[in-house]
Amino acid sequence: MPDLSIILPFHNESGGVRNLFRRLYPVLNQTGLSCEIICIDDGSADDTFQSLLHEREYDQRLKIVRMARNFGKETALTCGLQLAKGRAAVTLDSDLQHPPEVIAELVQKWREGYEMVYATRVNRKTDGIFRRLFSRAFYATFRTIAEIQMPDGAGDFCLMDRKVIDALNAMPERNRFMKGLTSWVGFKRGTVPFDVAAREGGSSHWNFFRLVRFAFDGISSFSTLPLRIWTWCGAAVSVGAMLYGIFLIVDVMVSGIDVPGYASLMVGILFMGGLQLLSLGVIGEYLARIFTEVKARPLYFISDRVGFE
Ligand code: UDP
Ligand code: MG
Repeated sequence: MPDLSIILPFHNESGGVRNLFRRLYPVLNQTGLSCEIICIDDGSADDTFQSLLHEREYDQRLKIVRMARNFGKETALTCGLQLAKGRAAVTLDSDLQHPPEVIAELVQKWREGYEMVYATRVNRKTDGIFRRLFSRAFYATFRTIAEIQMPDGAGDFCLMDRKVIDALNAMPERNRFMKGLTSWVGFKRGTVPFDVAAREGGSSHWNFFRLVRFAFDGISSFSTLPLRIWTWCGAAVSVGAMLYGIFLIVDVMVSGIDVPGYASLMVGILFMGGLQLLSLGVIGEYLARIFTEVKARPLYFISDRVGFE
């Protein structure tokens, strides 16, 4: 059984594979731990899988999994954690945005007794201004309404003790917001700051809609506030409507029937219509997620494994 499992998700990263391992090996050797390197090819359309096989010819510590299609990074990481045999596991991006050198510090913290060690990013220089604003808004919202705390700048670059891995593997949900899950399980937590590097090659897999969906996945799996808030909205609107109704009745009794009011009627109807659609939409979002959970399909399928006995 190895000491450390390194888990790397790959999606169309063939150009960066060589560089990644060139930087990873010295760090692993320096820690003096026995390692397994679990590479998840998450449905790449390029020759990532071939590059990984090629890499394995030089180092038998590599274990390679090819997913049946692109299941997304969260699922790839879940797959890696389920296959990991180590006493601890480190997950990091394969595009070298998470510098492998930081692994040494993560391991150091782990040796000090921390069970969940986050590498926290200290800058977001590599992200565009829009993405930076978006993530700031998201984390502020997440912290306020979700019932869990995650360290500032924490992401998917982290070290988990076996206890944490087992806890994560025991969670059956299909919607896997890893950052949230790792914070939710608890355990003794440490952080190691690091500078995010620019992407080595290829391009980021995120666009606006994917980000929004991811953000709502995160919030919806840790909070029911977006569902419950409509009770309060409804209550506030009802109270307002009742007061306005009383005012109208009194007004009609005092000064007679007054027909004009097209503008206020329109505004009232449109505003209420919008509010109702919005709340329905939120219910729909939760319902859709319940639907995926209820179907209880397997999280992923593996088409090839190399290096596992
Ligand atoms: N990735 C993956 N499956 C996907 C998308 C991305 O395994 O569907 C991997 C990708 O190869 C990289 C990591 O997840 O190692 C982070 O992806 P990316 O760099 O696109 O995200 P960003 O760094 O922009 O957050
Ligand atoms: Mg990246």
